[in-house]
Amino acid sequence: MKSISSVCALLLLLASPVLAGDDASGPEAERVGPSAADPRHRPAGCDTCEVDNPASSKAQPPPAASFSWPKGVRGALSISFDDARESQVDHHSAALFKKYGIRVTYFVSLTNVEKKQDLWRAVAAEGHEIGNHSVHHPCSGNFPWIGPGERALENYTLEKIDAELLEANRSLRQMLGVTPVSYAYPCGLDFVGRGENRASYVPVVARHFLVGRGYRGEYFNDPAFCDLAMVQALGVDHDGLAQLKSYADQALATGYWLILVAHEVPQHPGGEGLSTGNIAALGEYLQAKPELWVDTVGTIGAYVKSHRNLDQKNAKERQQR
Ligand SMILES: [Zn+2]
Repeated sequence: MKSISSVCALLLLLASPVLAGDDASGPEAERVGPSAADPRHRPAGCDTCEVDNPASSKAQPPPAASFSWPKGVRGALSISFDDARESQVDHHSAALFKKYGIRVTYFVSLTNVEKKQDLWRAVAAEGHEIGNHSVHHPCSGNFPWIGPGERALENYTLEKIDAELLEANRSLRQMLGVTPVSYAYPCGLDFVGRGENRASYVPVVARHFLVGRGYRGEYFNDPAFCDLAMVQALGVDHDGLAQLKSYADQALATGYWLILVAHEVPQHPGGEGLSTGNIAALGEYLQAKPELWVDTVGTIGAYVKSHRNLDQKNAKERQQR
């Protein structure tokens, strides 16, 4: 089990009144830096000239973050699965979630979807989200199952990953009739190249997708502030029901957006993944908590993007350029 105590400590530290979206003042507004009006901050021999001072009247402080969930909602949870493993469709996870009114996100491997295309079409038709997980699942060559060849991110370029993500979207459109708006970084890794040529491919994901989902993060997402091109997610393949319930409780306690990631859907408890028994028990638990919004990564991501002043400000700046 992961060290949830450290997660809790961080969350308590981060739990923020901005989520209520109603407190733009507070101690931060009181903090004022050195001012050009203060003669101590003017260059020697210059009594009237303008000073390039970050706290001068020209510099605007960032606006206070504001965000609010829909009426009656106090936090959000997304459940996601990676790699289109056979157990996800063989053990009918999509139908099981639907029984509890829950839509989840499947970040799929193209080769696995190809093998069971009809079953995956049914998953999409049930209203679940199909997300992009690349074509070749590139990760660090340090993983023995990747090795030092073409699938190693160390040997990738930004152009190569850009083309691959678009190719995956094209293939999914052809096979399942959907165009993904969410992407999950394979292994949670967001770089290409090495040394001086190493670069983040988060900007590539930001160009093509509404949400980029990380993996094995240690914290939840502050909806007022998080980077939608790299939202954090917790791996739950080894978590029991009590831990899963406590994650849901923490999403409510903090008002943040929590994303869970599993790989397999075993039919028996104790196996790796989110078992059918735990899906049913968690489904019942969540049904009794209507104040926790449970929906796909893409749906909650779209709400976050359109309901916070951070993105409104960025959109305005883009229009002005
Ligand atoms: Zn994966």
